[in-house]
Amino acid sequence: MSDSFKAIMVSRDDEKNQSVSVETLTVDDLMEGDVVVSVEATTVNYKDGLAITGKSPVVRRWPMIPGIDLAGTVESSSHPRWKAGDKVILNGWGTGETHYGAYAAKSRVNGDWLIGLPEGMSAHDAMAVGTAGYTAMLSILALERHGINPDRGPVVVTGASGGVGSVAVSILGNLGYFVIASTGRTHDQNFLKGLGAAEIIDRAELSEPGKPLGKERWAAGIDSVGSHTLANVLAQTHYGGAVAACGLAQGFDLPATVMPFILRGVSLLGIDSVMAPVALREEAWARIASDLDSSKLGSLATSIGFDDLIETAHGILEGKVRGRVVVDMM
Ligand code: NDP
Repeated sequence: MSDSFKAIMVSRDDEKNQSVSVETLTVDDLMEGDVVVSVEATTVNYKDGLAITGKSPVVRRWPMIPGIDLAGTVESSSHPRWKAGDKVILNGWGTGETHYGAYAAKSRVNGDWLIGLPEGMSAHDAMAVGTAGYTAMLSILALERHGINPDRGPVVVTGASGGVGSVAVSILGNLGYFVIASTGRTHDQNFLKGLGAAEIIDRAELSEPGKPLGKERWAAGIDSVGSHTLANVLAQTHYGGAVAACGLAQGFDLPATVMPFILRGVSLLGIDSVMAPVALREEAWARIASDLDSSKLGSLATSIGFDDLIETAHGILEGKVRGRVVVDMM
């Protein structure tokens, strides 16, 4: 247990200047928790990019090991649900924000935050999905609870080449939806069509200020972009449709009117992955295991090593990352 391992640490000086370093730690250096997990794989989400670059205030306790997602094997546990050898996933709950996160070979966490790795899924595949993909599934579950199904009409996915978007396109396509993928990478149509998009639109169609109501184009939407894009998605949603809002890649503002809500009965569904209850997480991961064609994971995810992590975290904010990134720690 006293073996040392590498961890990425973000720190702040007295002037609040942020720096990132690779430190050598032991389990004793980790924060409180009743389960120690040997991290087999992690990933780089948009939020991890924000934490490492300091571009947004994701980190709320200093210093911090970033990384909001991990998959691995329980090394030791005093938690009643977990024992050594169990395969687990952790998404969110403040890891990488207020509790030391996944960018270390070992993590000590609260066992209540863990869920079991679905049968037949590897740690690598779980991180190819990651919080981004699990958020895509939470969005699909929210739309289904609103009565959306493939017979209701097309579903638009914004930020379609990103992590949330690419997994949403893959799952919706597999479920039989007519998926309209909105992307800035219209030159890269084969990627999104290969995942399951039926139609590709240029994100510029949605990213500028639009009318309060437009032509009804889709029954539902999954929006990871926010701002004018979300306002335009709402304005072009069918009567009685719904839009799941989960991200802010364009901006956290929502310059919209109430017209889609009061004239078309459109619903806006909020999606949070960080504090989602365990039962909902387990439902989402079970649906990922059954409804995401695992052969698509290979084409939507790129693998990197621990040493590439910091550069990739910068890259995701610069729009250089397509699909998902898996960090293999072993
Ligand atoms: P990615 O960076 O992988 O994807 C974001 C995508 O949005 C990009 O690939 C790009 O897609 C599009 N995009 C980027 N900048 C702009 C812009 N200025 N205008 C319009 N579109 C843009 O991030 P993730 O998929 O990991 O996360 C997406 C969003 O969801 C983030 O805001 C993240 O914080 C949020 N999120 C929220 C969660 C929750 O719990 N609610 C959980 C996980 C993520 P393209 O190239 O196709 O145009």
